[in-house]
Amino acid sequence: MKPTKPPVPLAGSDLRRRIIACRLCPRLVEYRENAKARPSFAAQEYWRKPVPGFGDLNGRLLVLGLAPATSGGMRTGRIFTGDSSSRFLVSALHSAGFANQPSSESVDDGLAYTDCYLTAALKCAPPGDKPTPEELSNCSPYLDDEILLMGNLESVLALGSLAFRAYLGHLGRVGVPTRGLKFAHGEAHRFRGMPTLYTSYHPSPRNTNTGKLTKGMLTSVLETIKRDFTR
Ligand code: SF4
Repeated sequence: MKPTKPPVPLAGSDLRRRIIACRLCPRLVEYRENAKARPSFAAQEYWRKPVPGFGDLNGRLLVLGLAPATSGGMRTGRIFTGDSSSRFLVSALHSAGFANQPSSESVDDGLAYTDCYLTAALKCAPPGDKPTPEELSNCSPYLDDEILLMGNLESVLALGSLAFRAYLGHLGRVGVPTRGLKFAHGEAHRFRGMPTLYTSYHPSPRNTNTGKLTKGMLTSVLETIKRDFTR
């Protein structure tokens, strides 16, 4: 049964304020403040701050990506918003009943998630999508705090191997052994007393344009997660 508590957003919280104000990684601060806008977005003002998670902290599902996209979250100020990966992901979340609409374009587009919260392991876009281990480590307390706030959490969906490793890092920090676990699409890893970790290829254009990840594949993982909910 779906939890009856009302949705709880991160908006207005101390954690959101701390994330947005963070300047811990000099390379990423430099990049987010100075990265060149795409010609098609040149007239827009980019967000250029860290991008916290978005959705329902009372939800049973956490969807975890690696980082905001330069022309997506870093432009719009909302995670998984305004780029092709976001469109693909949100369309699948809508098909599986976790989102009220199939698109995610801007902070005022009316998108709302039901029973799920989306965030990234790294709150700032890294150049070339390649964060350093130190940057991931700097940002990990924010992910730990977001997870701590999710009192109904049952399932974590890691999008891609880097998000998968970032979640294993979280498990390691809370004392859960994860030795030997390897990333593969469509798997479920169960840990005693902890949320189940599901996996999907990342919905990047490289994967979706080549058919490595289809909408049907991602929706199928989301439907499995729903079926596995215990409450
Ligand atoms: S990546 Fe995380 S820790 Fe680094 S500056 Fe951005 S918000 Fe701060």
